Amino acid sequence: MRGLGDRQQFAATVAKGLGAGINHIETAAAYGESETYLGPLLKSFNRGEINLTSKVCPTENPEQFIQGLDRSLQRLQVDYLACFAIHGINTPQHWQWVQQLWPVIDKAQQQGKFKHLGFSTHGSLPLVQEVIASGKFAFVNLHYYWFNQHLAPAIASAHQRDMGIFIISPADKGGQLYTPPRTLQNLCHPFTPLGLTYRFLLSDSRITTLSIGPAIPEELDQPLSLGDRLEPLSEQEQAILENLRHHQHQALGTAACHQCYQCLPCPEEINIPEILRLRNLAVAFDMENFGQYRYQMLENAGHWFPGRKGDRCTDCGDCLPRCPHNLAIPDLLRDTHQRLRGKSRRRLWQD
Ligand code: SF4
Ligand code: SF4
Repeated sequence: MRGLGDRQQFAATVAKGLGAGINHIETAAAYGESETYLGPLLKSFNRGEINLTSKVCPTENPEQFIQGLDRSLQRLQVDYLACFAIHGINTPQHWQWVQQLWPVIDKAQQQGKFKHLGFSTHGSLPLVQEVIASGKFAFVNLHYYWFNQHLAPAIASAHQRDMGIFIISPADKGGQLYTPPRTLQNLCHPFTPLGLTYRFLLSDSRITTLSIGPAIPEELDQPLSLGDRLEPLSEQEQAILENLRHHQHQALGTAACHQCYQCLPCPEEINIPEILRLRNLAVAFDMENFGQYRYQMLENAGHWFPGRKGDRCTDCGDCLPRCPHNLAIPDLLRDTHQRLRGKSRRRLWQD
């Protein structure tokens, strides 16, 4: 999902992961050449030992959708997937489309094309909760990290239904933690921000696996060193995470956004809570680069990163009485825009 690099680097990364005991690979039809590169590589490994997940974006047309699954199987050179996911149930319209897909999905499962059905999502909490509550899925793949716990209720719901829970790219989407700012490094000492993020997730027994998304073999080192550390957080780890919370509270003062989402909807479709989350991280932990990376995707990545930027605010005031913390939302949006605006960027892939 983060760009494949050259084929040799891709092969080296896969070989290192599988050689070290990783037994789950997740890809998607939309991840460039990923499936095509993986196909021949998987042949040299014992298929029974690798759980393969791939994903296909929802479409309005059932035929087109199932042809997408067939093409994934061909590219991967396999006759079935352990896990097949609908890639990005991000909007109510996607969920509506999926209602038309059930007959072809059920048939493909009966034909043995996949064992378990799941979905990935960048959607709102109510939408994710609705899809989970449908009872149609065996697993979900979502964004949940120490630095972004908005979907915590969805983790609880999925766990109640005994669903598999996959976390999308904790290192990159969880805060660009391969290259953390000095302030954050110091606050996490003697651990690393990435190591703490992995431990936060691995120690949560509800979470099934982490889709770590390494681009180069070296990015496997830290997850491999922590992969079996499933025990509860130590007192020291808990103390450092508590200190991060305290530091954030001190640094933001009364301008902290508490991520309650009560300010929405905004008539200008500004993604207020996400923009102010990025501000929280930039102000408290100097995570400006991560903030810019995410902020610049607004208005450029469609339903993968919905909503508009802070400079669209017209000062209409609609959101103000809804904020339980009385935040000066328009001022904070303008401040964030100044901090995080920059050259617009697109995703590496589009649906
Ligand atoms: S004041 Fe700005 S952010 Fe708030 S609802 Fe109006 S346009 Fe949206
Ligand atoms: S209502 Fe206020 S505290 Fe809650 S998400 Fe919106 S801006 Fe943040």
